[in-house]
Amino acid sequence: MENCIFCRVAAGSAPARVLFADDDVVAFHDIAPRAPVHVLVIPRRHITSLAHAEAGDAAVLGSLLAAAAEAARRAGIVDSGYRVVANTGADAGQAVPHLHLHVLGGRPMGWPPG
Ligand code: 5GP
Ligand code: ZN
Repeated sequence: MENCIFCRVAAGSAPARVLFADDDVVAFHDIAPRAPVHVLVIPRRHITSLAHAEAGDAAVLGSLLAAAAEAARRAGIVDSGYRVVANTGADAGQAVPHLHLHVLGGRPMGWPPG
């Protein structure tokens, strides 16, 4: 997926402020943060969205959620609290068609989201 910006981040061919990475996932800071902490967590392997995940993706989905928690620990927002979001499809405003979790924190969040 050479035209996918997040595949390029995962491959190291597009720049990103990487917080940490392993064989399956990459956590990096959002280029246009919506909160004092705004980290994106992606699978290295291209999955278009949560709606495109299949039964065989269960392990990587688990890794993604564990990586979101690790990103929050490393960013120092566990005690204050944080939100994990997966915008999925048009009504949710998903702009980048490569599955990603937003990890947002460092300020109080409103509910429900807009
Ligand atoms: P979505 O609306 O798809 O859930 O969120 C996409 C997010 O990716 C947005 O918060 C946007 O700022 C971020 N983003 C888009 N392109 C890039 C990029 O090239 N690098 C980084 N670090 N973040 C990006
Ligand atoms: Zn991709």
